[in-house]
Amino acid sequence: MFSIAEKRSGAMAYFAPFRPAEAPCRGEGGGARRLRRYNRRVPELPEVETIVRSIRLRLVRRRIVRFSTCWAKHAQPNVRAVRRGIVGRTIVRVSRRGKFIVFHLAPSGYLLVHLRMSGRFEWAADHPTEPAHVRTIWNLDDGSRLLFCDARKFGRVIYAKDLAHATADLGVEPLSREFTRAALTQLLRRRKRQLKALLLDQTLVAGLGNIYTDEALFRAGIHPLTRSDTLQRRPIAALHAAIRAVLREAIRCHGTSIDWIYPGGWMQKHLRVYGRTGEPCPQCGSRIEYLRVGQRGTHVCRVCQPLNGKPRLP
Ligand SMILES: [Zn+2]
Repeated sequence: MFSIAEKRSGAMAYFAPFRPAEAPCRGEGGGARRLRRYNRRVPELPEVETIVRSIRLRLVRRRIVRFSTCWAKHAQPNVRAVRRGIVGRTIVRVSRRGKFIVFHLAPSGYLLVHLRMSGRFEWAADHPTEPAHVRTIWNLDDGSRLLFCDARKFGRVIYAKDLAHATADLGVEPLSREFTRAALTQLLRRRKRQLKALLLDQTLVAGLGNIYTDEALFRAGIHPLTRSDTLQRRPIAALHAAIRAVLREAIRCHGTSIDWIYPGGWMQKHLRVYGRTGEPCPQCGSRIEYLRVGQRGTHVCRVCQPLNGKPRLP
């Protein structure tokens, strides 16, 4: 059975023994190795969008007065360049591109943050004592402090002069006007790749990850191993609609919370296959199976998503 409480308490049980004792930026030890068993999930488009919406109000019109980090690898191209680029600048807009959070600065420049495996934002004022794993701190002109906590240290804080250049490798935004049925058709037909791997490729479609790819493929009735160039017009239309529908629904639910890293969302209640291995398919009642596609755990109903068969269309 899929159990949120069980998964969360499992993660916490591993976390608890070393969390209180760990000072910020202490070197990685056995605790970090143990952590690797969990939190393989990177926040996807709906979670990042939710975070952007939640921090935007407190950030816009604030000037950054100090930037400090105790984990230099967070900062790209390097700490000095990030500091020089952002200190003294005012945040005029906070947006999302793919899985990146983007601070638009005035008079110029951009700060891109990628949360990767375990990154999260906290406001210092919301905590009586400093939260664990604070790696990077932004001091703002109203006295507030935005903290970037990152247990596994894979997060990135990138300064860029030109946003288009910095995000040139990212594919189409699936909720944008550019993501049309025709655009998806071209994307799929020009390649001979397994569908799931293709959809996870951030250089083709930006923001999709493991959860929403599995959910969109299920809703469209398409097997994740289907070769992209073999898809016909109707299943492509179903996939296009399913991707947009599942992302929109997840944003309305503030994302999926199935681990301690990303709390507050409730999309997990509406997931139909992801994390439900062994449970009955909500459409046909057969068992949801777990298979590995590339390096990724994948959830599929073989009846509703037949491989090389005619997909069931809604
Ligand atoms: Zn089914």
